[in-house]
Amino acid sequence: MRYSGFRVIREALRGHAGWGMAWRDAAPKDRYDFVVIGGGGHGLATAHYLAKIHGQCSVAVIEKGWIGGGNVGRNTTIIRSNYLLDGNEPFYELSLKLWEGLEQDLNYNAMVSQRGIMNLIHSDAQRDAFVRRGNAMILNGADAELLDAAAVRREYPYLNFDDARFPIKGGLAQRRGGTVRHDAVAWGYARAADRRGVDIIQNCAVTGFRIENGRCTGVETERGFIGAGKVGCAVAGNSGRLMAMAGMRLPIESHVLQAFVSEGLKPLIPGVVTFGAGHFYVSQSNKGGLVFGGDIDGYNSYAQRGNLPVVEDVCEGGMAIMPMIGRARLLRMWGGVMDMSMDGSPIIDRTPVEGLYFNGGWCYGGFKATPASGLCFAHLLATDTPHPVATALRLDRFERGAMIDEKGMGNQPNLH
Ligand SMILES: Cc1cc2nc3c(=O)[nH]c(=O)nc-3n(C[C@H](O)[C@H](O)[C@H](O)COP(=O)(O)OP(=O)(O)OC[C@H]3O[C@@H](n4cnc5c(N)ncnc54)[C@H](O)[C@@H]3O)c2cc1C
Repeated sequence: MRYSGFRVIREALRGHAGWGMAWRDAAPKDRYDFVVIGGGGHGLATAHYLAKIHGQCSVAVIEKGWIGGGNVGRNTTIIRSNYLLDGNEPFYELSLKLWEGLEQDLNYNAMVSQRGIMNLIHSDAQRDAFVRRGNAMILNGADAELLDAAAVRREYPYLNFDDARFPIKGGLAQRRGGTVRHDAVAWGYARAADRRGVDIIQNCAVTGFRIENGRCTGVETERGFIGAGKVGCAVAGNSGRLMAMAGMRLPIESHVLQAFVSEGLKPLIPGVVTFGAGHFYVSQSNKGGLVFGGDIDGYNSYAQRGNLPVVEDVCEGGMAIMPMIGRARLLRMWGGVMDMSMDGSPIIDRTPVEGLYFNGGWCYGGFKATPASGLCFAHLLATDTPHPVATALRLDRFERGAMIDEKGMGNQPNLH
């Protein structure tokens, strides 16, 4: 069924009796040409593009819980393409372009809102770094705008300009950045993939790989063995645990990241704002809640909930740039498990096991990457060659010393 304004009016007049299920509850078959593990944004997008671009319809997505129960439904919904390095910027700019046409492609309202993102500048050295980054963005076809303090103040007059430990000296804006309704992305990709014949199998954890003569021939699951021509892994924070089942140790650590939502307030924050002298980012949802976050938790974990010291740390960041946030009451908070890579950049690559492919290392920026990640992973699975914008995202770059260290932090996952 195609969704449209006409359909909404029609269903409103007949008690909404005509809506069908958005996707089938598929039972696993014995074998598929492609099995994608992980029903998050990246796994579902991969299945969609495998079917849509490469005409593959023998595809299954295998999810241990429910669609959207992982990070794709837990993030702070920010999209942007404001990267510096050549290994990253063309990839994230492709992703932003895909976001711009996503709702038409999927025939699904994902509430893509290009309300803009503003990275605040607090020192002269930081301005230099942001000028460099802005120029790299423009050279790669993205948009970037450098603002002085007065221009930032016109857009965000309530930020702490004068009386702060780190006064605001300007901002780097990307007007095409913004927010997207996170779980709608999972639902939209799931529905679109299902319409093209992809089986979405929920409540079916992968428990092992069958590897014969160096080749992966399928996956063991809670619902039995499923044979596969090729297996793609896209399980974000569970990457280390999953790939260990295939005998691999990844250059990835798992950490918890928390998100926070305040009570609903009148319209206040037009776009996304990030604090440049600490770690804090905030936007306002369409319902009025301030949606914000900051650093990852201080220790490694697979638990989807966070700890209190980081709550204090994030709120301190918020108070530093926007003291009146202290008067808003917090309504909800939750945690998700992040796959932090050693250089802060992702991996989309083949593995040493024939027929087994890996997608991960998204750190806490993988939501914005969802469309390009799916497109590039589908390209790799279907053609066995990397997509042109993902050639640097290789698994062996850590061995070769070809890191993509976007923030210049070295191999410290907690800082990426
Ligand atoms: C609090 C928070 C805020 C964030 N904010 C942003 C943001 O503002 N912008 C941004 O770009 N990114 C953000 N991120 C990061 C982003 O959400 C993730 O990088 C991205 O969603 C990860 O990819 P995914 O959607 O495929 O992951 P997930 O949705 O986690 O999907 C992986 C799936 O794999 C499944 N799985 C795991 N193991 C198995 C198994 N053995 N068998 C079968 N299935 C399995 C899981 O159940 C899960 O559903 C944030 C993350 C968090 C937690």
